Amino acid sequence: MRIAVLSDIHSNLRALDAVLASLGSVDRIWHLGDVVGYGPDPDAVVERLGQVHALGVMGNHDLVASGAEGLDWFNSDARRAAEWTRIHSTPQTRAYLAALPQERVEQTPAGEFTLVHGSPREPIWEYVDSPRVAEDNLAALKTPFCLVGHLHVPLAFRPRRPGDSRMEMRLAAPDGRIGLGGGPLILNPGGVGQPRDGDPRAAFLVIDTDSGEAVWRRVEYEVEATQRAMLQAGLPPALAARLRFGQ
Ligand code: ZN
Repeated sequence: MRIAVLSDIHSNLRALDAVLASLGSVDRIWHLGDVVGYGPDPDAVVERLGQVHALGVMGNHDLVASGAEGLDWFNSDARRAAEWTRIHSTPQTRAYLAALPQERVEQTPAGEFTLVHGSPREPIWEYVDSPRVAEDNLAALKTPFCLVGHLHVPLAFRPRRPGDSRMEMRLAAPDGRIGLGGGPLILNPGGVGQPRDGDPRAAFLVIDTDSGEAVWRRVEYEVEATQRAMLQAGLPPALAARLRFGQ
């Protein structure tokens, strides 16, 4: 079974379509939330995820854009983008976002995967961004494998040695791969629609349960066209500018 894992699409249809076009044959598409926010195409991105039968979870931007949570959580640019998304999305899009679960557990031939946007113990808001946070989340993780987003950086957390409860963090290079083993393993695919690791290309992860490996991938998309669409839509210029630098 081949599974594509996409996170933090952030209303960037061009980035999502570039990823989908590069996938080849996959059996499942999973997303880890932040479907909207920042970018210019919330309705089209939600529609596309439906067309490819993607299964996913709710991110903090989805929660806020759906109207279920106030805007106070965000800095000014994120808040303006969230307000823009509330105004420029259909009721169907907001209903889709509001109905996303905070967590999913999916079966595969390699074992069970927990899908969350943030962390197992704080599925919407916590960043798994250090070995310490990864260790602190192991008690809340009920499956051997966990997929998280939110950081927009491709990462892996795994035990320092087999059986060790202390975790180590590994930054994932493009085309980097990792053996699934028996877990615990926490993987972040990086961001599709707003990468923050200095590489502007869309980032995602492909899990192959036959080979027992996961591979981090990157694909180029039309960054300038997305930036133009954001400026024409009246979204904050700083949000458009950062796409070029992958930040
Ligand atoms: Zn995000």
